[in-house]
Amino acid sequence: MQELGNNIQFLKGVGPKRAELLNKELNIFTAEDLLFHFPFRYIDRTRFYKLSEVSENMPNIQVKGVISDFRTKGSGRKTYLTAQLTDGTGSLELIWFKGVKWIKESLVSGKEYIVFGKPARYGRKINIAHPEIDKPEDFNKKTSSALQAVYSSTEKLAKKNITSKVFRKIIAGIFENLENPIPETLPAYLVKKYNLLPFHEAIVNIHFPKNPEILQRAIYRLKFEELFYIRLNILKRKFGRKLKYKGYVFSEVGRNFNSFYKEKLPFELTGAQKRVIKEIRKDFASGKQSNRLLQGDVGSGKTLVALMLMLIALDNGFQASMMAPTEILARQHYKTLKKLTEGMGLNIALLIGSTKQSERKIMHKELQTGEIDILIGTHALIEDTVIFKNLGLVVIDEQHRFGVAQRAKMWKKNTRPPHVIVMTATPIPRTLSMTVYGDLDVSVIDELPPGRKPVKTLHSYDAKRLQVFKFIEEQIEAGRQVYIVYPLITESENFEYKDLEDGLESISRAFPPPKYALSVLHGKMKPEEKEKSMQLFAKGITQIMIATTVIEVGVDVPNASVMIIESAERFGLSQLHQLRGRVGRGAEQSYCILMTSYKLSSDAKTRIRTMVESNDGFKIAEVDLKLRGPGDTEGTRQSGIPFELKLSDLSKDYKILETVSIAAENILSDDPELKKDENSILRRQLGRLMSGHKRWGAIS
Ligand code: ADP
Ligand code: MG
Repeated sequence: MQELGNNIQFLKGVGPKRAELLNKELNIFTAEDLLFHFPFRYIDRTRFYKLSEVSENMPNIQVKGVISDFRTKGSGRKTYLTAQLTDGTGSLELIWFKGVKWIKESLVSGKEYIVFGKPARYGRKINIAHPEIDKPEDFNKKTSSALQAVYSSTEKLAKKNITSKVFRKIIAGIFENLENPIPETLPAYLVKKYNLLPFHEAIVNIHFPKNPEILQRAIYRLKFEELFYIRLNILKRKFGRKLKYKGYVFSEVGRNFNSFYKEKLPFELTGAQKRVIKEIRKDFASGKQSNRLLQGDVGSGKTLVALMLMLIALDNGFQASMMAPTEILARQHYKTLKKLTEGMGLNIALLIGSTKQSERKIMHKELQTGEIDILIGTHALIEDTVIFKNLGLVVIDEQHRFGVAQRAKMWKKNTRPPHVIVMTATPIPRTLSMTVYGDLDVSVIDELPPGRKPVKTLHSYDAKRLQVFKFIEEQIEAGRQVYIVYPLITESENFEYKDLEDGLESISRAFPPPKYALSVLHGKMKPEEKEKSMQLFAKGITQIMIATTVIEVGVDVPNASVMIIESAERFGLSQLHQLRGRVGRGAEQSYCILMTSYKLSSDAKTRIRTMVESNDGFKIAEVDLKLRGPGDTEGTRQSGIPFELKLSDLSKDYKILETVSIAAENILSDDPELKKDENSILRRQLGRLMSGHKRWGAIS
């Protein structure tokens, strides 16, 4: 009997050598692994052509006919074999340059065969070289199909002739020897409600689809399952948390919030800012602990929203805290918030890596007595020595820079977990926010403050540097400031890329003192040096900021209106968008110039073109997802997706994701811990997946 957990070595057509190769090359160890090695495309063999229709311009085609008249031609190493194929309407020639002996032995002259290959013309005759040949009777087997599966392979496997045909044969063998159908992995009521193919049927048909319709259903069923369990897992966690933890009730909007709103707010809030604050206020008052993702494009004004939410926490007798990924950003937030709330009598403190021990001691004490209202800082905040009197709200800025574990640690800063708001750097496509950040509620600021002129983005080549320098000169002349960003601090093994030190030299030459003053900022500088450099630029004392990507997140200098990105082809899309977001913050027309070499990969071209054509962070995020896949998109690497997606594509399968979300929500709102009998399959399957079982099939 066939056991799916069996070592592939013992399968028909495998053996120890092939088994070892499959282990090494594709991580395939068991029959089950093979069944889950899904094809990545299919060759359509539904159509048969008459030989009279065949011409040399056709792609791979399929014909049926009698093979006869074998002839060995040439001599020595140049021996080749020909045969005639006829079907009553015409004929063509078949040619083999290799494997002549084997072909002659395995084909019978005068018999009918199914022939598949690419027609070509040689002289006046049409031929097919090295056709794929099947016996008609093999074609009618249960596991044969007109859509032929093509499997991903590797160079080594191809060399050893482990072709798609071989895969199909081995997999067919597994099915033929299977005594019982593969057990179902979804509850019967779901299969019925969503009209899904049974699991077994789906697996058979993804390898051997009977027709295109059933193939679509098989793929749908398997994607459904894949995404369903991801959503079920995330939502179960979310439901569980809501049951387990009570949230602090912020019932009041009081003195701090109101006096800030009436007296301090430097400008009218945008409609989106207002809506989001309202949404979150409601959440705060609900008695549930809030865990929310605050999305908004670069420059949409998230900091201000964060401040106003923290004021609500203070109004209800709690402390609040805001965590940023870099010292530069933490300091900037500290300054911004202090300035915005000047005269309100708030005690705002800054805790970062370089904070002196003596200052820390005082701060620790004041946090515990409640003298400090708002604590701003870097991940220094997470340390166990940082204890609050009653922390009610944590805001995490630029969430993608932090790991899930760090986020979780902030939870433990109070007896009950505080409300948590995480803010993203750039928008996240909906499919990702449903999977990677799926346990969070989402609020979106989908509007920029009024009066912003979209940043003009241009693509320029290294060779045109002088023109770009000229442009910088004009802009500085007009009172603007300029960022020039480099991908590296020192020259790496890759000499193609200009690095900051090189650049600094040429820019100092082109923009010499005393007329010009430069700031430099990179990761290897000491915190005080960084801060000084940043301040000189922020105050307008220096006109050009030469930096690495340390300025990528959050930095806000509204007078800076030109962003030059060197070796722009090296940056990812969301990083480029984030960098561009450093300009366009004031009323002036801003520019972003992407410098590249002439030689660009096709992905790099797409990235550059997308940047030039669009300022819309949501659009850019979608393109980024398509180019890189979810695993690589910024901030998702430490994601909550515990297993690799085999079939689903988060850039395309939004509809299915939505369907499974509703299904999972319905189930959980009725049975949050999946305790009911009808859900035992779900509980078991989820446990399996979470325990790191290689896949989601319930086969053991
Ligand atoms: P981000 O969402 O990228 O973190 P910031 O919070 O840094 O954006 O805000 C960008 C700039 O917009 C800041 O200079 C901020 O003062 C300004 N800003 C925020 N809200 C408004 C508003 N409603 N009207 C005008 N300017 C605003
Ligand atoms: Mg920000």
